[in-house]
Amino acid sequence: MTTHPGIESTLRAAVAQRLGESRFGLWFGEGVRLGLTEGSDSLEIAVPNAFFRDWIQSHFAGNLVDAAREVTGRSLRLAFRVDGEAPPPLGHVVEPPPPDANDRPSAPPAPISIPIPPADRPRSQVQAPASHPTTPTPNRPSRRLDDFVVGPGNRLAHSAALEMVQTLGGSFSPLVIQGGVGLGKTHLLEGIGAALRARHPGMKVVHITAEAFTNGFLDAMRHGTLTAFRARYRGAGALLVDDIHFLAAKRATQDEFLHTFNALIADGAPIILTSDQHPRQIAKLTDELATRFLGGMVVKLEAPDPSTRRAILQAKAAARGVIVPEAVLAFVAEHLRASVRELEGALHSLIAHATMTGKRLDLALARTALRDTIRHTARAVALKDVEKAVCQLFQIEPEALKADNRARAVAYPRMLAMYLARKHTGAAYSEIGRFFGGRNHSTVISAEKKVLGWIKDEARNGLLAGFEMMSDLLNALERTLGA
Ligand code: ADP
Ligand code: MG
Repeated sequence: MTTHPGIESTLRAAVAQRLGESRFGLWFGEGVRLGLTEGSDSLEIAVPNAFFRDWIQSHFAGNLVDAAREVTGRSLRLAFRVDGEAPPPLGHVVEPPPPDANDRPSAPPAPISIPIPPADRPRSQVQAPASHPTTPTPNRPSRRLDDFVVGPGNRLAHSAALEMVQTLGGSFSPLVIQGGVGLGKTHLLEGIGAALRARHPGMKVVHITAEAFTNGFLDAMRHGTLTAFRARYRGAGALLVDDIHFLAAKRATQDEFLHTFNALIADGAPIILTSDQHPRQIAKLTDELATRFLGGMVVKLEAPDPSTRRAILQAKAAARGVIVPEAVLAFVAEHLRASVRELEGALHSLIAHATMTGKRLDLALARTALRDTIRHTARAVALKDVEKAVCQLFQIEPEALKADNRARAVAYPRMLAMYLARKHTGAAYSEIGRFFGGRNHSTVISAEKKVLGWIKDEARNGLLAGFEMMSDLLNALERTLGA
C-alpha cells in the first residue's frame, strides 16, 4: 500500500460513519489497515487473520465500497490481505456491488493523486512526517516484559531482554531478537524500552522502527538536516530498532546506520534489534553490518508450544476481563499454532462474536466462529514436503524415488511416500502417481494397501537402522511433516 496517511484517515472516517463508532472500533481497530495503491482499482484491506477477512467481507463489503467511492469518486474493488500471508491473495477479491441507484450525486468525483516516492525510496516514505516519532506506535499502551508469557520457545529471548535491562548490555550488545511474524519481537523490544526508562529515568532511550530510521535519514538528506538527524541517534543512551530486515538492500541507509551503531557501541550504549531473519540471511546487508549485528547475541523466538499457547490465551482473556472456559482456550490453542498474533486475533474474534450475537462463549460458538480461520490456517502438507521428508530420512535422491527402480531400498521408501501423500496432502491417487515418477493411480492404491498391511501386521523394518518397526519409520516421517 502506498497510501497517504491523510487518505487512510479520510477512508477510516468514512467507514466509521457508516458503521458507527462501536462496530468500527471492534472490526477496524489496531491491526486493520485501509489503503489505496496508485494506479490500482482496489481498496486494500490488511487484516490480522482470515476470520477478520471473512467477517468484514461478509458484513461490511457494501459499506467499504461505498466509503471508498465517497472518498475517491471511483468504484473500487476490495482486495483483502491477511498479514503474514504471501501477497496477493487474489481469491479474496470481491467485486463491488453495482452503484446504488440513489447514490448521492453530490459525491465529488475527486480522483486522488498520491505522491509518487522518488525511485530508491521506500514506498512508505510518503507517510513520513517531518519529525519521526521515537516510539513506533504511540496510540497503544506500551507492552511490558511483565506481560510476556514465558515458555520454552521464548524463554531465552525473554531472559536476554531482562539481562539487557539489568546490565545495559555488558558484553552482549547488540542483542538481536530474531523470530517470525507475530511471535513477540516488538513486544519484547517495547518491554525492554519501558523497563530501561523505568530503571534509568534520565536515560535517552531511542526506540524506532528500521523503516522510520530509513525515512528519517532520507528526509534529512533531502532537507540538509543530517547533523540534527545524527545527533538524535548518536546521543542515545540506548537504541532499540525494530525490524532491521527492512534495511535489506538499502545501501545508503545501511552505511548511515553502521556509523550510528559504531558510535553507540563505542559509548557503551546498549543496542537491541529485532529481525525476522538471522542477520546472515538478510538479503543485501553489507558484510560489515552483518558482522556487527552478530557481535553480541542473537536469540531466536520459536512458535509457542501448546501449553504456552494456552497460557497466553488465558493471560490475554484475563487482561480483557473476560472469562473464557477452559475447553474454549484448549480448542483455540489446539487449532491456531503459527503465531501469538493469530491466537490473539482468534480470541478477539471470539469475544466480538459473542458480544455481537449475545451468545455464550462456549465451545460451540468457538467452533462456528473460528471455522473459516482454522480451515485457512491449517498447514497444508505438499507433495514436495513428503518427498523431502522421505528422501532426507532414507538419504536418497528425489530422482531415485521417481525412477523406475524396484529395488527394496527405493521401492519401500516410495511406497511410504505414496501412503503419506495420500494421508496428508489431500492429493488424488492419480496426482500422487504422476508426482512420484509418472506412475498410474493403481500403483498408488497398492502402495497404500501395502503400507496399511505393514501397520496392521506390525511389520518389522529391515531398511533403516534405528527404527525397529515400519510404524516407527512412519512416525518419524510424520513428525517431520508436522502432521
Ligand atoms: P512480532 O513483532 O514478532 O511480529 P509482536 O511483538 O507484535 O510480534 O506480537 C504479536 C502480538 O502477540 C502482540 O500483541 C504481543 O503482545 C503478543 N505476544 C507475543 N508473544 C507474547 C507472549 N509470549 N506473551 C504475551 N503476548 C505475546
Ligand atoms: Mg513487530
